[in-house]
Amino acid sequence: LGGSISRAIQQMSNATIIDEKVLNECLNEITRALLQSDVQFKLVRDMQTNIKKIVNLDDLAAGHNKRKIIQQAIFNELCKILDPGKPSFTPKKGKTSVVMFVGLQGSGKTTTCTKYAYYHQKKGWKPALVCADTFRAGAFDQLKQNATKAKIPFYGSYMESDPVKIAVEGVERFKKENCDLIIVDTSGRHKQEAALFEEMRQVSEATKPDLVIFVMDSSIGQAAFDQAQAFKQSVAVGAVIVTKMDGHAKGGGALSAVAATKSPVIFIGTGEHMDEFEVFDVKPFVSRLLGMGDWSGFMDKIHEVVPMDQQPELLQKLSEGNFTLRIMYDQFQNILKMGPIGQVFSMLPGSSAELMPKGREKESQAKIKRYMTMMDSMTNEELDSSNPKLMNESRMMRIARGSGRHIREVMEMLEEYKRLAKIWSKMKGLKIPKKGEMSAL
Ligand code: GDP
Ligand code: MG
Repeated sequence: LGGSISRAIQQMSNATIIDEKVLNECLNEITRALLQSDVQFKLVRDMQTNIKKIVNLDDLAAGHNKRKIIQQAIFNELCKILDPGKPSFTPKKGKTSVVMFVGLQGSGKTTTCTKYAYYHQKKGWKPALVCADTFRAGAFDQLKQNATKAKIPFYGSYMESDPVKIAVEGVERFKKENCDLIIVDTSGRHKQEAALFEEMRQVSEATKPDLVIFVMDSSIGQAAFDQAQAFKQSVAVGAVIVTKMDGHAKGGGALSAVAATKSPVIFIGTGEHMDEFEVFDVKPFVSRLLGMGDWSGFMDKIHEVVPMDQQPELLQKLSEGNFTLRIMYDQFQNILKMGPIGQVFSMLPGSSAELMPKGREKESQAKIKRYMTMMDSMTNEELDSSNPKLMNESRMMRIARGSGRHIREVMEMLEEYKRLAKIWSKMKGLKIPKKGEMSAL
C-alpha cells in the first residue's frame, strides 16, 4: 500500500509537465490505496472531486513544488473529512457526567470502557463503571475483572435481566457517591437488529447520558458507515472511538463513522491492555491511512536527531527489525546529546512512547541516565540480544546490584525497552527512503 502511493507520487515527480493526465493517474492510485484502507467509496470519490477543484493545474505548471501541492491537498482533504466541525462534549473533572458506550458485540466496548475510566482515573478523576449488558453471559464478569484490576468501582448484576433497570440503578448509585465520570457499558448483541437499537434507545432515555460514544473496530471495513448511522439513528452519538489500531487495519472506516455520526474520533485503542489507549490525533492517523506519512515524519526526525555518521547504521538496523538494548543505549545517548527522540517514536502509530514529555525534560533526562547506568552493568550478550526472555530475575538482580539501583527500576527499564521494541518491530522490512525523498508530507 505504502509502496503504491509512493510509486504514484514518484511517477508524478518524474514527469516534467504535470498535466491533467498525470494528476488523474496519481489520484487513481491514491483512490485504490484509500479503498484498500477501508475508506468509504463515496468519500473517496468526493475527495477526488474536491482535489481537482482545489489543485489548479496552471498553478501546478508554474509552481516549483508540484508534488508537495498535490500531497498537501490530499492530506488536507482527508483531515477535513475527519473533522466534523464541532468538538464532542467533554466531561469535566469534579462534575458528574454520564457517558454511554455503544457498538456491536466484539467491537471492544467493554475493554474501551475500562481504558477510558483508567485514563481519567490516572488524571485524578473518580470514574465508575456500570454493566448494562445483560445479553451476553459473562459480560458482567468481564467488566468486573477489568474494573477490579484498575481499582475502579463497578455496578452490575448476575440476576437482573433488564438492562435499563441496571443502568439506572448504577448511575443513581454512583451519582450518590459523587463519581465524576459514570460510564455505562451496553450490550452489542451479535448483529445489527431492531431489538438492539431499541434497547440502546431505552437505556439512553433512562440514564440521560451527557455523551454517547460509538465504539468501532478498525477492521470493520466498508460496513462502518451503515453501522455508525444505525446507532446514530437510535441514540445521540457524540463521539467515536476506534479500537484495534495495533492490528493491520488502517482504520479507514473511521472516516465513515465521522461522516455518519457527525462526531469526532476522540481516542484510539492500540492493544488489549488498559493503557494501550491514545488521544486521537488526526494527522498521524491520516498519514497512516496514506501508508507513508508517519514513516516520512519519522525519517525526517531521524535525520534531525541522529548524528549523520550514525544514520546509515541505525537505518540498517531498523530495517532488520531487531531492537536490542544496545540500540536503545545508543539512542538514549543521542537523546541526551541532541534532544527528544521520544518524539521520533511517538510519531509512529501505536506508539505511546513519551520519553520526554514537554515540560518534564529534566525529569526524563534523569530517568534516561538512570537507565543507562543500569545498562552499563549488563553483559555484551544481554545488550546485543533481542530476546527479553534472557532477562530472568537473577540477571535483573545482578544488574540492580551492579548499578546500585533497585530491581524495580531494572524492570521498569526493561518495560521501556519492550515498548520501544514493539514499535521498532513494525518497521521491519520497510524500504528505507533516502533523505528528502518522502519528506513532503
Ligand atoms: P465488546 O463485545 O464490544 O464489549 O468487546 P470487548 O471489549 O469484549 O472486546 C472484544 C475483543 O477485542 C477482546 O478480546 C478484547 O481484548 C479485544 N480488544 C479490544 N480493544 C482492543 C484493541 O485496541 N486492540 C486489540 N488488539 N484488541 C482489542
Ligand atoms: Mg462487552
